[in-house]
Amino acid sequence: MPRLMGSALTAETGLIGRFRTLLGDDAVIVTAAEMEGFVEDFRGRYRGAALCVVHPSSTEQVAAVVRACAAQGVPMLAQGGNTSLCGGAVPAADGTPPVIISLARMRRIRRIDAANGSMEVEAGCVLETVQNAAAEVGRLYPVSLGAEGSCQIGGTLSTNAGGTSVLRYGNTRENVLGLEVVMADGTIWNGLRALRKDNTGIDLKQLFIGAEGTLGIVTAATLKLHPLPTHHALAWFAPTDPQAARQVLGLFQANCGARLTAFELMNARQLQLVVEHVTDRRQPLEGAHDWHVLVELADTQGAADMEAALQTTLEQAVEAGLVEDAIVASSDRQRAALWDIRHSVTEANKKAGVGLTTDCAVPVSAVPAFIEQATQAVRALDPQIDVVIVGHMGDGNIHFIPMYPFDVWRALADATATGAAMRRGVNDAAHALGGTFSAEHGIGQTGLPEMAHYKSGAELSIMRAVKAALDPRNLMNPGRLIPDPLH
Ligand SMILES: Cc1cc2nc3c(=O)[nH]c(=O)nc-3n(C[C@H](O)[C@H](O)[C@H](O)COP(=O)(O)OP(=O)(O)OC[C@H]3O[C@@H](n4cnc5c(N)ncnc54)[C@H](O)[C@@H]3O)c2cc1C
Repeated sequence: MPRLMGSALTAETGLIGRFRTLLGDDAVIVTAAEMEGFVEDFRGRYRGAALCVVHPSSTEQVAAVVRACAAQGVPMLAQGGNTSLCGGAVPAADGTPPVIISLARMRRIRRIDAANGSMEVEAGCVLETVQNAAAEVGRLYPVSLGAEGSCQIGGTLSTNAGGTSVLRYGNTRENVLGLEVVMADGTIWNGLRALRKDNTGIDLKQLFIGAEGTLGIVTAATLKLHPLPTHHALAWFAPTDPQAARQVLGLFQANCGARLTAFELMNARQLQLVVEHVTDRRQPLEGAHDWHVLVELADTQGAADMEAALQTTLEQAVEAGLVEDAIVASSDRQRAALWDIRHSVTEANKKAGVGLTTDCAVPVSAVPAFIEQATQAVRALDPQIDVVIVGHMGDGNIHFIPMYPFDVWRALADATATGAAMRRGVNDAAHALGGTFSAEHGIGQTGLPEMAHYKSGAELSIMRAVKAALDPRNLMNPGRLIPDPLH
């Protein structure tokens, strides 16, 4: 950890004392050993130094911490579950060590209004806890992703997380009614309205959603709830290729309408890695197939009708030569087992090697072309490269992952440059098809060069103007999201 010298040391030490007074001794972590889990991301790819980690328990405490940091000009980094896949939640290796403000102790569900379809929760609530609390009153909070057992509402909001049910319910942005935010000067903005319609000026909450903690710290949110589906129909099938998968998606959309909730694609290599590296995961279909799709329908009624629609659509797809094989889950257990495969991809890939995860989205119609062109781009750089593909095909969001065995990666002459070139090749393929390099994971540290490369000067200027207005000293989560924020 960089050492702090002279007057800076006195000021920093004073700040830690101030935090102890404000929050109590047990809410301030200063030793390297205790900070370990906060300064490195869960894949061990990004690591930096922090001045300390603080655990405020209330919005007022967050505001007091922010005011204390602002008074000393010390940068702050909000941290949720630290599940970011792009180095968003840990300090950068260079730069002034920030104070990490962990929201983990702010995990109260403040109120649920089932009749209004809303719930107010603190930012540190784990996503799964929120889903379960909504389900207990017969409602659905639809945002769902592999890290839901550890990521927090504040983190999902700040990255505008997507996941597996965007196809039906939209991403996080579309499931938030109100926000409470501590601004860079310590002001508390209470925008916790539970309204589905509110046209009173600029929709301020949207500024903070997806801002990755660069404009303020989210301390609470009013979330939008939906009717809880009680019936599900799920199938796993093998399309002949991505083009066929796209056509089958069209059949499901035509036949099943709003019941279509998830349409998740993976290639054979991704499935193989899950089966090899994660306990109790098995190949769902007999024989070898190049491509796999998990499709799910959900509704509050009409189970038999929905299952029939699933069967009929699959039969049509088989008859049209689009599908090689399929199974339909016949019990909740089987359904959970098939979802477990999908939700195990990150764990499997972490064990399998160094995966250069990308997060592109293209128009759904362009997914097959994207997969083909991205494959050509990375194979032009390395003809042997292992290509792992998994994604939310229904949203056009494909995680195209060039994968290196650990020893090959370690032996590369310049792994950083190789990684950047591989990612750029994939991102260029998406860009050429009208797509984006960042669909749901956020920008973090990984995407910063891509922001500078792909975003227009006009877009970057607007972002910098917003940043300058809300955080003129660049103290909130510096070093990510916006290149040269004070430019
Ligand atoms: C197994 C696995 C599967 C995943 N699947 C998906 C997926 O399908 N879709 C998807 O979108 N993502 C996915 N992710 C990525 C990640 O889980 C999400 O980005 C998640 O939203 C991050 O939440 P978090 O609480 O862990 O935030 P963190 O990782 O702690 O932080 C992420 C960013 O948000 C900021 N932040 C955190 N809390 C606050 C706050 N209260 N106020 C202001 N800023 C804050 C941080 O500073 C950082 O910039 C996956 C990750 C894993 C490990």
